[in-house]
Amino acid sequence: MSQNVEPFERELPLVVLGEMVIMPHMTVPLQVGQGKSYRAMEQAWAEDREVLLIFVSENEIEGYKSGQPQQLPRVGVIARLEEFIKLPDGTVRIILEGLTRAAIRGAVQIEPFYRVRCLPIVDPEPVGMEVEALMETVKQQVDEFVDHLGEVPQDAVAFVHRIDKPGHLADIVTYAPAFEFAERLEILNELDPIERLRKAYLLLARQLELLKLRQKIQQDTKEVLDQSQREYFLREQMRVIRRELGEDDEADDPIDELKRKIAELDAPEYVKEQALHELKRLAQQGMNSPEAGVIRTYLDWILSLPWAEEQMPEISLAEAQRVLDEDHYGLEKVKERLLEYLAVRKLAGNKMRSPILCLVGPPGVGKTSLGRSIARALGRKFVRTSLGGIRDEAEIRGHRRTYIGAMPGRIIQGMKTAKSRYPVYVLDEIDKVGQDFRGDPTSALLEVLDPEQNYAFSDHYLEIPYDLSQVVFIATANQLDPIPSPLRDRMEIIEIGGYTEDEKLGIAQGFLVPKQREFHGLTEEQFQITDAAILKLIREYTREAGVRNLEREIASLCRKVARKVATAADNGEAPVSAVIDAADVPTYLGPERYSYGLAEEKDEVGVATGVVWTPTGGDTLSIEVLPVRGKGVLQLTGQLGEVMKESAQAALSYARYRAEQFGVDPSYFDEHNIHIHVPEGAVPKEGPSAGITLTTALISAMTGRPVRRDVAMTGEVTLRGKVLAIGGLKEKTLAAHRAGIKTFILPKDNAKDIVELPQKVREDLQLIPVSSMDEVLKIALAEGQRQPEGQRQPEGQRQGHRRATSESPRTPTAHPGLADS
Ligand code: ADP
Repeated sequence: MSQNVEPFERELPLVVLGEMVIMPHMTVPLQVGQGKSYRAMEQAWAEDREVLLIFVSENEIEGYKSGQPQQLPRVGVIARLEEFIKLPDGTVRIILEGLTRAAIRGAVQIEPFYRVRCLPIVDPEPVGMEVEALMETVKQQVDEFVDHLGEVPQDAVAFVHRIDKPGHLADIVTYAPAFEFAERLEILNELDPIERLRKAYLLLARQLELLKLRQKIQQDTKEVLDQSQREYFLREQMRVIRRELGEDDEADDPIDELKRKIAELDAPEYVKEQALHELKRLAQQGMNSPEAGVIRTYLDWILSLPWAEEQMPEISLAEAQRVLDEDHYGLEKVKERLLEYLAVRKLAGNKMRSPILCLVGPPGVGKTSLGRSIARALGRKFVRTSLGGIRDEAEIRGHRRTYIGAMPGRIIQGMKTAKSRYPVYVLDEIDKVGQDFRGDPTSALLEVLDPEQNYAFSDHYLEIPYDLSQVVFIATANQLDPIPSPLRDRMEIIEIGGYTEDEKLGIAQGFLVPKQREFHGLTEEQFQITDAAILKLIREYTREAGVRNLEREIASLCRKVARKVATAADNGEAPVSAVIDAADVPTYLGPERYSYGLAEEKDEVGVATGVVWTPTGGDTLSIEVLPVRGKGVLQLTGQLGEVMKESAQAALSYARYRAEQFGVDPSYFDEHNIHIHVPEGAVPKEGPSAGITLTTALISAMTGRPVRRDVAMTGEVTLRGKVLAIGGLKEKTLAAHRAGIKTFILPKDNAKDIVELPQKVREDLQLIPVSSMDEVLKIALAEGQRQPEGQRQPEGQRQGHRRATSESPRTPTAHPGLADS
């Protein structure tokens, strides 16, 4: 008990409990899934059996599961595991005893479970007339309460009377089943025992009033009420109280209990009918029949789904804008589209079927967190389900109950988590839904998203229709193409591009650093990070379009600093205040992972830089061409898809066709094999946009003219050297910008897209639209000439040449042999 707990700061595994509170001095059996909390207890069982419990709403629990909780609560309860027994049937028997409150200082570990620093709080023991009077009053209240309920065992009452500490009394009293989660949390968070008891007194007085009122109503309707049901109702209430007071719990008839729960369920009539029908089957077959488990699981599902109607708050656009701005940096256009969407919803209400939003963009650009903000702006619950890798219709729509271990599909599972029929429901990775012989999940998804049908969504397991029409669905995807067109047609697409360095810096300083600092229990004095350090993280520790890894690196810095802060406090040293600068980053995170910029690179023959679009954003890639003596064979290695192979063939044809103009003997191609290599690493999306890069590398190799390293390019090329439009310009220019490229060649037909590019990219990159291969070569090939590849000269001569190259001006100049055709 509390006197055994030493008042030193500790680091304990964290168990997160949803919608329940375990008070100090309480012993409670528990059920948990296999997640982080389970692992925390497993670890604690192996250590000193102590864990820290925190109590959060069902809404917040998602964040803890995904490792990105909003904020740790201030107060938790240190508890001891009394039992942690894995039974042969796979379930685990857990019994926890609450020991004492603890002040939470911050997290020191997230994976594989949370570990948190905390300081046990022992109640002071106030004395005096006032305390005694207050305690006496509360005990009288308890007596009165028990009088009204009747049948509470005398020793439970005697137990309450023996309590001699005000804080303890408050804890025990509000633990009674009449109290709600929020009320218990209020009592838990009150650290002053007298104040706590005062609050308990008020809550109890209210409960007493309610109880009296309820009894009066029951009295009045006694004749019409079915006698047995009423008795059962009372007995059930007592059973719960007895259990909470630590009394023995002789199980009541489960059929009666289910019947009561069905009667109390706030659901349409057809749902109750179905449930009662199943209950009848259960009663007929008996609780020990093989079917009983299946039926009970089914009834549990029905009872735990949200069916009730609710009144949704009026949408306030100003408030929505405030929430969106509060949670996200920049993204002006996206926010504007979202506000328009909300405006339409507000005006049209349910009259108009609002479209399903689909946020498309690379990972880590805030798609999911925008969904979360919309939920906050609308005052709705938030749920998300990932559709990645779903191939089977049954994963969406559930299995029929005749299957062993059948369950509802993911949509209905999400609704259970949401605990409301009106949530914002994010369907992640809608572009990763596959299909196979077990039916097409797309058609099931269509039914989910189609307002004409989703008011009566049919899940195979539930068998009865479920109304999804009040759900605000938001889909997210990395790319648009793979989404089947019937689905795409039903959605309003909002594209979110990657971020520039400046934007990432803004997001980090404005959002990610404060968020992680708070989560790790650090103050602004204890943890700061300079812009230069963040830039170093962006350039040399991450390579991404979004900010997901950046956030991870910042979290990792916070953890390391948190450890220092804690150690210093333990050893009584001076308080730590870390200001992390660029030079400190490697000491915390180890050596740089990526090299930034092109400073050290030199212009080379036969190597050209292209940019590719990938589902995770853009990336640069170098294409290498090496002619070797041979018989004119085209050899391709590395990351080339079918379309790229065709581009290579086309590049070769073009080079042959123009050979003479480049001063290359046509017989060159009969005497050389051309080896084209695209290094692994970037996984480019299949497409023809590498055409001009391939051709440039090839012509550089043939003619011996180096390609400028600070130039990147994208464009499809025709056999005669015309440059055709490409897609994904934004991600591609961002990737080039990230890589420190100075000049970017793009097809003239894409010039109209330049206005859409971020300001910073337009300022830093010299963007040159071209319509022919000749223009590309004029820009991309550097001054001077080396021996063509395959006929290299000795090293000394090449050295001299390179110096000349790097001193040459970086402006496109005409070359002899490349005269405009
Ligand atoms: P996605 O769903 O696009 O993969 P997430 O929503 O998971 O990305 O975002 C990753 C992290 O980056 C989240 O913590 C999110 O809050 C943060 N983030 C992304 N974009 C922004 C932004 N513009 N402003 C503030 N935070 C952002």
